[in-house]
Amino acid sequence: MTFPKPVKDNFKQVLFLRSFRARICLLTLTVGILTSVMMRHAIMQTYESKAVKQRTETVQNQLLIVARHLISNNYFATYRMQDPGMIASRQAINAELDTISNLYGGRVMIIGKGCKVIKDTYGISEGKTIISEEVIKCFLGENTASYDADNGFIEMTIPITSTGTDGKTATVGVMLASVSDEIIVDMVNQMDHNATVLEIMMIVAIVVISVLLSGVLTKPFGKVTEEIRKVKEELSEEAISVPDYVETVHIIDAFNELLGRMNALNATRAEFVANVSHELRTPMTSLKVLADSLLAQPDVPAELYREFMTDMVSEIDRENRIISDLLALVKMDKTEQNLSIETVSINELAEQTIKRLRPIALEKNVALDFESKRAVKAEVDEVKLTLALTNLVENAIKYNKDHGWVKVFLDADHQYFTLTVSDSGLGISETDLPHVYERFYRADKSHSRQIGGTGLGLAITKGAIMMHHGTITVTSELGKGSTFTVKIPLKHVVPKNHAENASQEEKH
Ligand code: ADP
Repeated sequence: MTFPKPVKDNFKQVLFLRSFRARICLLTLTVGILTSVMMRHAIMQTYESKAVKQRTETVQNQLLIVARHLISNNYFATYRMQDPGMIASRQAINAELDTISNLYGGRVMIIGKGCKVIKDTYGISEGKTIISEEVIKCFLGENTASYDADNGFIEMTIPITSTGTDGKTATVGVMLASVSDEIIVDMVNQMDHNATVLEIMMIVAIVVISVLLSGVLTKPFGKVTEEIRKVKEELSEEAISVPDYVETVHIIDAFNELLGRMNALNATRAEFVANVSHELRTPMTSLKVLADSLLAQPDVPAELYREFMTDMVSEIDRENRIISDLLALVKMDKTEQNLSIETVSINELAEQTIKRLRPIALEKNVALDFESKRAVKAEVDEVKLTLALTNLVENAIKYNKDHGWVKVFLDADHQYFTLTVSDSGLGISETDLPHVYERFYRADKSHSRQIGGTGLGLAITKGAIMMHHGTITVTSELGKGSTFTVKIPLKHVVPKNHAENASQEEKH
């Protein structure tokens, strides 16, 4: 198995935002800065439009007062009259208009019927006719006001209305005024300056907050790494805990599960090594005892030599059996890539296996039968499946009584095929049943060893079936017999990661 290289917290990783902290930092920075820029923009807009509105209202109010004076002084009817009284009242109103235009840095025009300019505080348009949308609208009774920010003035119209003797109000003239926005621009600029200072301060604060916040938020993940490293360095077997976030709890839970499995595997491995040593030593001890006793006697008769030598050969055979079973088991432990899957006739495979085992069954006076419900073809590793079936049938013969029977039954549906091996043998007790697949486990120790069992057969069988993604189950009754049922998919499914590995290897 190949492991990816550990990722280091280097600058490049941070730059490409592979760092969680960098992402949080960037996110808070973006949100913070965007918000402050938008807020500033909105505030400035509101401020400006409010200032324009206020200024427009002030000027309009002033001009309305003048409009009333115009009407009360009969300005429109008398503006051509040259008697001193009229001139004086006109001059008073003109002075009022000049004051307003000077005060607001603008120009006021009084427009009479026929859109004729009667008075212009700039004195350039008097007597001319002015035709503009605003003026016409105003004659129709609508006040208008517009802000021309590019040219720096606010333009507005104010109707001059008079109420006739019949009580009806009529627009007799229009005041067209344009005032400078200088004050507004000054105020907006001042406000803008203040807002810029405030915005810079806010951005600095946001940068500091996002750096600190990202650090605080990602701290538990650093703790997780630290805790896992501690386990690695101290080879600790104790579960760890980082309860800060639900996410870290999940990671740590998964890690603790893995740790538990590793510990269990370690324990199993240690136990397995102890068992292997013990099993391998037993025949060696017998061999040594036999050889020592031969050596201890000076004149050993030839028959005794022969007898001892026969015992020694059977011990060597036993040692060989254990070693070859162990090798078979190690092969089963390897990954699935070692499987050589082919479409095989399971009927033929079972028949061949039974044919090979029939002499042993005959020797033990056990009737061995095979029955198949249908012809079954499946994608399997022939050698490994034969090994599994051989072990099951061999056990059924080995742990049988005289004149007993063993039946092998094959059936299939559209997805799986099932091989059942039943016997009329000794059976397995309820307490032994859950352990029969364990390595070196023997239900009936003395009997098993006596008949040459290594305690590895069912472990090998189970390993072979697991490699085919199948299942093995057993039902048994002590003294009556056992039934082992093997269920294997007809089509072999290659797990995704194995398939990927295989294709990568092919590419190389
Ligand atoms: P062994 O090499 O001892 O047969 P196995 O792993 O094949 O080891 O079997 C484990 C134990 O399960 C055996 O020792 C035996 O006691 C019991 N066992 C297995 N198959 C049968 C069976 N068909 N009938 C009775 N007991 C069985």
